[in-house]
Amino acid sequence: MNIAYFNGNFLPKDEIRISPDDRGFLFADGIYEVAKWYEGFFFDMESHLIRMKRSLREVRINWPGEDSFPAFAEELIERNQLSDRQALIYLQVTRGASPRSHAFPDPEVPPTVYAFVNEFNSHLPGSESGVRIMLKEDFRWNRCDIKSVALLANILSFQEAREKGLWECVFVRNGLITEGSHSNIFFVINGILYTHPESHYILSGVTRKNIFRIAGEAGIPVKEEPLPADKIGTIQEAFTTNTSAEITPVIAIDDLKIGNGLPGPVTKLLRKNFDAEIISLGKGKTKFT
Ligand code: PMP
Repeated sequence: MNIAYFNGNFLPKDEIRISPDDRGFLFADGIYEVAKWYEGFFFDMESHLIRMKRSLREVRINWPGEDSFPAFAEELIERNQLSDRQALIYLQVTRGASPRSHAFPDPEVPPTVYAFVNEFNSHLPGSESGVRIMLKEDFRWNRCDIKSVALLANILSFQEAREKGLWECVFVRNGLITEGSHSNIFFVINGILYTHPESHYILSGVTRKNIFRIAGEAGIPVKEEPLPADKIGTIQEAFTTNTSAEITPVIAIDDLKIGNGLPGPVTKLLRKNFDAEIISLGKGKTKFT
C-alpha cells in the first residue's frame, strides 16, 4: 500500500482528498521539492530544506511546519518499507483551499501539504552511455529560481524532446544556455567546467551545488558563466544534473555530436566521485545496479 503524507497525517494515498478549491489545482499556486533516499539516508536533505523554505518565502506561503519535512520524509520511507531501497520523495505545498480569487485568501487559510515516496533507481539507461538533447528558446517566466509547481512550459518542452526521442530540452535565453526542463547543464571546455550562474533564469540545483564541491575536490576548475548557444561547437563534454538521474552525460545537442560521441573523461570522473561519495555516506550499504 502506498502511504502518503497529507496535512500532518500518514494516509493511504488513494484515501487522500484535495479540495477542488485548492489553489494548487486552480492556479498552480504552490511550490515543490524532490529529494533522494539512498538505502539509509537522504542525500543533502539540508540543501533541499533550505531551498524549499526559500521557495515558500519567495511566493509568500506560510507553512509553520516547514522544519518537519526531513522527519516526516524519513517516516514516509519507513512506512512504505523503502528503508533499504533507493527512492524519491516528492513534496508539494500550496496556498491552501479557498474560493477562487487571484488575491491571497483573507483571512489566511492553512497551506495544503502533500508528499509521497516512490522507489527509484538512479542508474537509468543513458546514464552510462550518454543521452541526446535539444535546445529551445526559453519561454518560461523569469523566476525559474523558485521551485514552482507551475511547470507547463517545462512539460511542453520535455514532451517535445521525448517525442523526438531525446532525453532533455535545454533552454536558451537571450542567446545564452540556461538549464534543462528538469535539470541543470554543465559544459567542459579545455578542462574547465562551465554552468549558468545562479540567477532568476535557473533553478539552483542541489546536485549542481554538490558538483561544484566534488569538482573542486578533484581539482577541476568551475566557472559560473553562461555558454552562448552559438559556442556549443567549442565544447568537449556536456552533462546534465538533477536529483533523480544525478549526472547524465550528453553526447549530442541537436545535430551536433559532442566530443567523440561518448561520455568524456571529466564527466566520468565526476560520476565516479559522486557514486563514491554516496557509497561512503551509506557506509557500504548503498549499491548501484
Ligand atoms: N532545473 C530544473 C528546472 C529542475 O526541475 C531541476 C530538478 N528539480 C533541476 C534544475 C535540478 O535540481 P536538483 O539538482 O536540485 O534536482
